[in-house]
Amino acid sequence: MLLYRTLISVLLDSELGRWSARGKAPVFWWRDDDARRPGPALNRLLRLSERFEAPLTLAVVPDGDIAALVAACATTPDVELAIHGFRHENRAPEGLPSGEVHDGDSLDEVTAELTAAIAAFAQAGLKPELFVPPWNNAHPTLNAALAHHGLAVSRYGQARAPEASPPRVDAHLDLMRWKPTARFRGGVRVLLRARRLLAERRLGGQWDQPIGLLTHHLDHDEPTWTFLEAFLSRITPVSRRGF
Ligand SMILES: [Zn+2]
Repeated sequence: MLLYRTLISVLLDSELGRWSARGKAPVFWWRDDDARRPGPALNRLLRLSERFEAPLTLAVVPDGDIAALVAACATTPDVELAIHGFRHENRAPEGLPSGEVHDGDSLDEVTAELTAAIAAFAQAGLKPELFVPPWNNAHPTLNAALAHHGLAVSRYGQARAPEASPPRVDAHLDLMRWKPTARFRGGVRVLLRARRLLAERRLGGQWDQPIGLLTHHLDHDEPTWTFLEAFLSRITPVSRRGF
């Protein structure tokens, strides 16, 4: 923890100082993916959200127990539940990037899947506003279905595009590496990327362009948890619904 706090100071303080010298504060938001039902890892995540007063967007696969998730999140002040795919199932033809929707799917079929996902959320008393495509794969047919239902989309790495169809707000800072197995990306790597994202926004005068922190509570190793705790003690995420 102390190591990561020190690393954060060494790698981010000067850039954050340039922001505060201009009277600005960066806009961070926080997305966590792959929830299906409550469990110890989710509890740990929610405790961090609560402790640091950090609003959280939890991307939920609709084939899980959404009502139990709603109950688990009820005592945490600011948690938004977003739709994370239909069944988080890779249906990409051989050789193509992983994704749930592909060229062979009709708009009617995808819209029906989306309608079912929205209905599953509605049964748990939720009206979702955001869709997070598994593997960040937003096929044009999926985008058309999202626009039809008035849902925004969140993928990875791009600028916010509120006027796009569907409106887009991405995550940018993935704490994990995925290949060959899931593990912490490493404090230096994450922080150098954070510094670059901050500098790009400062130099471009895009002070309000959000930076999305991305976590996957079910896959965190202990270094990921430790870094996340240190990072949340230094940055102040805002609710996605606030921008
Ligand atoms: Zn996922």
